[in-house]
Amino acid sequence: MGNGVSYDKAITIHLSVNGSKQKIVYSRHCGSRDIHDLLTAAAGVSRWSKIILRDINGALVSISPTMPVNNEDTAYSVESSTPENGEANDEILQGVLSHVAEQVTKPLLSRAFRINEMKEEMVSRLTAMEKKIEREGMKTVEIGQCRKELNYIREELFAAKSHHARFCKCAAPIADSVENRIVSKRDVPKYSKYTLSNETIEYLKKPTFDIWHWESNEMLCLLEHMYHELGLVEEYNMNPITLKRFLLCVQENYRNNPFHNFRHCFCVSQMMYGMIHLCGLQKIYNLFDLGILLTAAVCHDLDHPGFNNTYQINARTELAIRYNDVSPLENHHCAVAFKILSNPECNIFANVTSEQFRIIRQRIIMLILATDMARHSEILEKFKSQIKAGFNFKDTEHLTYLNMAVIKCCDISNEVRPMEVSEPWVDCLLEEYFNQSDREKMEGLPFAPFMDRDKVTKPSAQIGFIKFVLIPLFESVAQIFDVLNDCMIVPLKAALQKYEDMKDEEEAKMKRDK
Ligand code: 5GP
Ligand code: MN
Repeated sequence: MGNGVSYDKAITIHLSVNGSKQKIVYSRHCGSRDIHDLLTAAAGVSRWSKIILRDINGALVSISPTMPVNNEDTAYSVESSTPENGEANDEILQGVLSHVAEQVTKPLLSRAFRINEMKEEMVSRLTAMEKKIEREGMKTVEIGQCRKELNYIREELFAAKSHHARFCKCAAPIADSVENRIVSKRDVPKYSKYTLSNETIEYLKKPTFDIWHWESNEMLCLLEHMYHELGLVEEYNMNPITLKRFLLCVQENYRNNPFHNFRHCFCVSQMMYGMIHLCGLQKIYNLFDLGILLTAAVCHDLDHPGFNNTYQINARTELAIRYNDVSPLENHHCAVAFKILSNPECNIFANVTSEQFRIIRQRIIMLILATDMARHSEILEKFKSQIKAGFNFKDTEHLTYLNMAVIKCCDISNEVRPMEVSEPWVDCLLEEYFNQSDREKMEGLPFAPFMDRDKVTKPSAQIGFIKFVLIPLFESVAQIFDVLNDCMIVPLKAALQKYEDMKDEEEAKMKRDK
């Protein structure tokens, strides 16, 4: 050929674009999509545009490698349109798919920023497509098809990511971010000393404590006070500055999620502290055991990413892969806790014997792993059977289950608190749930109805949880510690009544509005 390029059985098609003559040349190995891309390039429009070819009689010509060859006099006219309607979804999908395929094979892929760029682009395209589906109401079959395609795209992205990880030997992103935060950025002198009033000191022991009243440094100070007041600093021969550094580091390793944040950590720890005092746990346990309970509460949700285990598993995140789908989050919370403690500057257990450290580690892991709600029935049933058979405070297995039930109570105890304190937590939890289901929808993953912003209301979220999860759990623990009946079961039943009234009001309003 004149320009020095040789084609294996090249095919030339003559075009007329807005009256100007053009040509496209392609090899017999090209597919329809390649030809379509050539045509959009010739027409000077985006590759997502729709292209129509007409022969000189106005008849439509199918765009394929086998379309009739023409000459300059019989050039096909090219018409293009930007995809705006529902029909274009398939085109966009095809485009996205071929785009993904192209990107996957590019060597550039071995660079982290490329994957992120790709991910962002995919996510924005998928969102556009979801919006279109939403706006124009596609048939169920078509939506099903789209879902399949979306899953395919996810797989492709996932494969690209794994490929990248294998070849670049890069650290898991979460581990990476934790590495950076294991050593506190601030040091203790910047976290000021507060003098707590006697009123606050007493109030801190009660489940009615207003946990919203305090900013981060104050919560740190209150947690520090708990360790001192219980006598744990002496028991473990802790360096008080190490305790401050440990707590600071813990705080820095909670993320700013709507629900699973440092304030949630503070709530769970404060409820543990409250239960120690209310139930007189000092009489049953020694200080060594109490230190384990409080520290497990403090560490129980460390570095929570704001997306639950179901998401981790379905999205095949680094955490799910690392922990083989077995309580990935809880395993991670434990791992981060012991990573913090592995730093001598933060190790509040630095002065215990190795045998004591072994026991501390084993029990903290056991307690944090027990907070996985997927194990709720298993743990509660076993605990109830021990009570039925006669709870024995000398039996270590009985005590283990009691401790697991206690940390579980603290973890989900918001509804035990006064209504002004508990209600905002429901908004926080729903915000985190909605963020998750939005992301699951966007990524074509299954999503739970209880997280769906179109289905859930505050009463619907709380009534079942209080009735079937909270009351049975707290009633079991109250069989061992009678004092909980008045200060926890009574408020739980009041909260249930409040949400039932709220639900009745909602229903009455709906009827009126109809
Ligand atoms: P966590 O993730 O905090 O360790 O485990 C507790 C889980 O129990 C939360 O993720 C959340 O799903 C659930 N939960 C805790 N408190 C409430 C509540 O007040 N209402 C509802 N519906 N679920 C709760
Ligand atoms: Mn928690």
